[in-house]
Amino acid sequence: MPTPYQARPLGPVITDAASQPYWDAARQGVMRIKRCTACGKFHFYPRALCPFCQGDTQWVDASGAGVIESVSVTRRPGPIPYAIAYVRLDEGVMMLTNIVDCDLDALRIGDRVKLCFKTAEDGAAVPMFTPVKT
Ligand SMILES: [Zn+2]
Repeated sequence: MPTPYQARPLGPVITDAASQPYWDAARQGVMRIKRCTACGKFHFYPRALCPFCQGDTQWVDASGAGVIESVSVTRRPGPIPYAIAYVRLDEGVMMLTNIVDCDLDALRIGDRVKLCFKTAEDGAAVPMFTPVKT
């Protein structure tokens, strides 16, 4: 029986000029990440300058597909269990996120996941991931 996702209160999401395009895209159901126009590498979180070579960066739409690199299910202190995980997107960047809408006991490192969004208290769309059924 899958554990339904019940949010602890999400948000409000704090935005600034550098992250606003990320959150605007999220409201449209798209995850945007930054890629360097000089060396071509992706990075996360979004930065104005490439963390590898200091080159300029541009926004690109991410595939939303990735793999669980690390996962932990928390059952205390709250009444609602949830899974926090590091997910590596197919583009190569790693993000700290939640795995939702799934059987938490079945989650394994190496599982394929796909992007989904959950709505925060302030209406922001927060990117999370759910396992890809194989
Ligand atoms: Zn670069």
